[in-house]
Amino acid sequence: MQSQIKLGSVFGIKIGLHYSWFLIALLIVFSLSSQFHTSNPEWGDTVILILAVATALLFFVSLLLHELAHSLVATSNKLPVKEITLFALGGVSQIEKNPVSAKVEFWMAFVGPLTSAVIGAICLTLARLMGNSSSSPWMAMLLWLGYINLMLAGFNLLPGYPLDGGRVLRALIWWKTGDADRSTQLAARVGQFVAFGFIALGVVQFFTGAGVGGLWTAFIGWFLLQASRESYLQVGLAHALKGVLVADVMTRDCPTVDGWLNLQNFVDHELLRTGKRCFIVVDKGEITGLVTPQEVKQIDRAKWPFMTLHDIMRPLADLRAVTPDTPLTSALESMSRYDLNQLPVISNSHLEGVLSRAQVLTYLQMHAEMKG
Ligand SMILES: [Zn+2]
Repeated sequence: MQSQIKLGSVFGIKIGLHYSWFLIALLIVFSLSSQFHTSNPEWGDTVILILAVATALLFFVSLLLHELAHSLVATSNKLPVKEITLFALGGVSQIEKNPVSAKVEFWMAFVGPLTSAVIGAICLTLARLMGNSSSSPWMAMLLWLGYINLMLAGFNLLPGYPLDGGRVLRALIWWKTGDADRSTQLAARVGQFVAFGFIALGVVQFFTGAGVGGLWTAFIGWFLLQASRESYLQVGLAHALKGVLVADVMTRDCPTVDGWLNLQNFVDHELLRTGKRCFIVVDKGEITGLVTPQEVKQIDRAKWPFMTLHDIMRPLADLRAVTPDTPLTSALESMSRYDLNQLPVISNSHLEGVLSRAQVLTYLQMHAEMKG
């Protein structure tokens, strides 16, 4: 889930919107204004519209506070947060590393629903303090925000991984058994049950007259099912790569090519003839960058005769180097963090080879075949 619209940052954490957010924002505004039209038509169209928009915006502020709570616990435990994205089903904090202990996992997960519950309680308390003016627009706003935040807290506490409640469950199993991988797989299994529950409930709702509401419930279930399956697979991946180092997977035989070489000549005489997947670009004996088929493919074929390797290479400065004894999992983490397909492997300021995503895939395939 990547943000497509950047909103800026809070406490150094980037905040963004996914396009699907507009859909849900519109839906909330429409359903709120039709609700107010039925309950308090005397407020008039303008007040109702302003109220609906303001309530929807405050709802997103409370979602953001929920995500910020997760993110701040993460950053205070040295777990970098890439960004917070708001989308159709709420928010996600992209935390780039897994927590190192069950305790950190527990708090990181639990503060989200806790924040929603506190916001909900504050709104309902304020509404109560306003006394018996039960038909004022302020009161309607506070009541709606109060209940929706309490519902949000409750929903997120369902024990289906990767919902917050599932993470809390995972932290508790982890703490009891001391096995992080096993606890994720157990929590993901429970997550699949919860997801199937949602789908079943949605289908029943749909056929008993809830209409779109039922489809919505089923859709949330389907989304949860995908997410829990993915978490289950990720653990399998981490398991297969346990103890594997960059040196075990990297390519050592990267030929060197001159940076001033014409791209067309490079493709004809080096890339196609040798069948190699990576080339080290040098200029007067100095390594300046890397070229792989990936870079070549991005350039229009007609431009090949007019370009040199310097024009298309990934400059060394843009590549995050790793050492041969880096664990493969952390090399993969930095590949996904910086959106790179290959990393130069350097030891004692000497280029030892190159690690690419394709090699990791080949390694995993081999691993699976040998086991199966
Ligand atoms: Zn949460």
